[in-house]
Amino acid sequence: MNLTGISGDFEAIEMAVRTKALKLAGRIVEKQLNDDHTDHKGSSTPCQCGAVAIYAGRHPKTFMSILGEITLKRAYYHCAQCGEGFFPRDRAIGVTGTSLSPGLTRMIGISAAMVSFAEASELLLAVGGLHVPNKTVERAAKSLGAEIFVDERTHAVAPPIQEIAPTMYVGLDGTGIPMRSEELTGRKGKQADGSAKTREVKLCAVWSAESRDRENHPLRDEGSVSYSGAIESAACRDIDTTPSAFAQRVLREALRRGVPEAPRQVVIGDGAQWIWNFADEHFPSAVQIVDRFHVKEYLCRVGKAIYGPDADLYTQWYRKRHQELDEERFDDLLDALSSHTSSNEAQQCIEYLRKNRHRMRYCFFEKMGLCTSSGVLEAGCKTVIGNRLKRSGMRWSTNGANYIIALRCSKLSGRFEDFWERRCAHTGAA
Ligand SMILES: [Zn+2]
Repeated sequence: MNLTGISGDFEAIEMAVRTKALKLAGRIVEKQLNDDHTDHKGSSTPCQCGAVAIYAGRHPKTFMSILGEITLKRAYYHCAQCGEGFFPRDRAIGVTGTSLSPGLTRMIGISAAMVSFAEASELLLAVGGLHVPNKTVERAAKSLGAEIFVDERTHAVAPPIQEIAPTMYVGLDGTGIPMRSEELTGRKGKQADGSAKTREVKLCAVWSAESRDRENHPLRDEGSVSYSGAIESAACRDIDTTPSAFAQRVLREALRRGVPEAPRQVVIGDGAQWIWNFADEHFPSAVQIVDRFHVKEYLCRVGKAIYGPDADLYTQWYRKRHQELDEERFDDLLDALSSHTSSNEAQQCIEYLRKNRHRMRYCFFEKMGLCTSSGVLEAGCKTVIGNRLKRSGMRWSTNGANYIIALRCSKLSGRFEDFWERRCAHTGAA
């Protein structure tokens, strides 16, 4: 490499040399692929339709890669029978129908799983020196997410039995994300005119909690949480013979994590009825727990509704209720709420507590060594969905959201590499 003309400080030198080195590497890859004519399969080759496709010369195409632009001349075959044309090389190196190299596609996928499309574009430029416009990032990330969305449905294999923790937790929750207006036509929502601005993403988190803190309370095991979520229905009518789309998603996630084989299973939710219906049907022996964090939050909201802006009274009130909840003094808790007969919120909360009472026996659960107030669910919704899909100015289509959620869940659950290996094996580009 000729380095004459490169001068300045260390940073300037390293940046300049990298640019030159990448360019040079790009030319080497380009030459190597273009010198290799093994993609020429003779004057004809079988077409996927069963007929024969005829060789029609080498056609150039420029790809964006992590080494800059690379122009490849590939053998082209055309089939008169079905009218389709194809490039054997594109299939072999996994670039059919795209102008992005596999290496760049992977970088875009990982970046866009973590940050917005615009930020991913910025990062690729700042860190990798790669000019990938926002729109290209968005298209590539959604397309990869769509592949993962399908892949997730077909790959659910139980782990070896020795890797399954004695107690496995399945947490279920939902959170609204902002949608494009055309996606919401006719949907009922919480807006003043009865319309909707959001749709609910349902999220399932699976984890173990064998670790203990200093007071011997169960703690979520580091790195044990995995996620799967989508805008999907969890509704199941008596006449349905198959579980809802979301129920099937949860069952796949549970299977991947070995929940059905775990000696003890726990289903944690916020108290929504669909969660318990799901648990009753699919994990009948699971312990059902209302996430303590959710209940405490609810009690705070009720306190605010009763006392309004008086922070002192409100704080005093909810602290007492939290204590009653923690100590399983359920009757005291209900009595305290009952005294606020004029508060709708208090009356609704009484209903909620009565309905879920057996799922809030926190002293009992603690004695059983169970994790009840993990915040895993709350953090899950924030981490997986909120931080990526609920940022200002974002408006999603159902498919677009589902594909990015699939991409993000795959990345955050440590499954992206497995997916990528399967993808490479599939295209023959391993
Ligand atoms: Zn054909």
